[in-house]
Amino acid sequence: LSHLGHGYDFFYFVQQWSSSYCDTKRSCCYPTTGKPTANFTIHGLWPNYNNGSYPSNCNKNSPYDGTKVSVLFSRLQVNWATLACPTNNGTKFWSHEWEKHGTCSESVLDQHSYFEATLHIKDKVNLLQILEAAGIRPDDNFYNVEDIKEAIKAGTGYAATVECNSDPSKNAQLFQIYLCVDASGKDLIECPVIPKRKCNSSIQFPIF
Ligand code: 5GP
Ligand code: 5GP
Ligand code: 5GP
Repeated sequence: LSHLGHGYDFFYFVQQWSSSYCDTKRSCCYPTTGKPTANFTIHGLWPNYNNGSYPSNCNKNSPYDGTKVSVLFSRLQVNWATLACPTNNGTKFWSHEWEKHGTCSESVLDQHSYFEATLHIKDKVNLLQILEAAGIRPDDNFYNVEDIKEAIKAGTGYAATVECNSDPSKNAQLFQIYLCVDASGKDLIECPVIPKRKCNSSIQFPIF
C-alpha cells in the first residue's frame, strides 16, 4: 500500500478551457469579478492513488477558510475562475475543491500551501502559450488531438490527457487537460495512471 505515506500517491493537475465549459447546453456564469482571462484556468489539483482510485472529503474538521488564502485572492480570481451558475466570486468553487480534494493532501500541503502550490504549477505550465507555439490556436478550427498531445509533450516534457465535451451542435471540443504532479505538489511527473477521458481524433478549439 504505497499510499500509506501521506494518504495519496500523486496529483492530477486539471485545467479547463472556459469557452468549452460555457459553450454547452448548460451554459455558464462569469464570476462577479468579470470574464476570466483568455487562457486555460485551473479546475483542480486532485490527490490520487497509483491504482486509479482516489480519496475524497478527507477531513470534515478542516473547512475552507478564506482568511487562510486571502493573500492569494487576486491570483485565484484570474487563474482559478469559477464558471458555474449562479454568478459568485469563486468561494464556492475553491471551497468545494479544498474540501473534496485538498483535505486529502493536508498532511503535505496545508490550505494556504495547497492553493499556492496549485497557482505555482499553473504559472510554470502556460498551456495556451505552448499550444500557440505549435500553431494550435483557439480559433474555432479543428485540430488533431494527437498534435495537441505532441505539442504539450514538447512544451512540458510530459504526456497529457485531453478531455472533450460537446457544444450544442454536437462538435467535440477541447475541454480539459490533465497533467500529473508529484506528491509534494511541486514538479510535473509522468502520470502513474492515465485517466480515462473521451475525445474524438479531431476536435474544435473554440474561440475565447
Ligand atoms: P467527472 O465525472 O465530471 O469527470 O468528474 C467529476 C469529479 O470527480 C471531478 O471534478 C473530480 O472532483 C472527481 N474526479 C473524477 N475523476 C477523478 C480522478 O481520476 N481522480 C480524482 N482525484 N478525482 C476525480
Ligand atoms: P468536481 O467536478 O471538481 O467535483 O466539482 C466541480 C464542482 O465545482 C461542481 O460542483 C461545479 O458546480 C463547481 N464549479 C464551480 N465553478 C466551476 C468551474 O468553473 N468549473 C468546474 N468544472 N466546476 C465548477
Ligand atoms: P457539480 O455538482 O458537481 O455541480 O457539477 C456536476 C457537473 O456539472 C460538473 O461536470 C460541473 O462542471 C457541471 N456544472 C455545474 N454547474 C454548471 C454550470 O453552471 N454550467 C456548466 N456548463 N456546467 C456546470
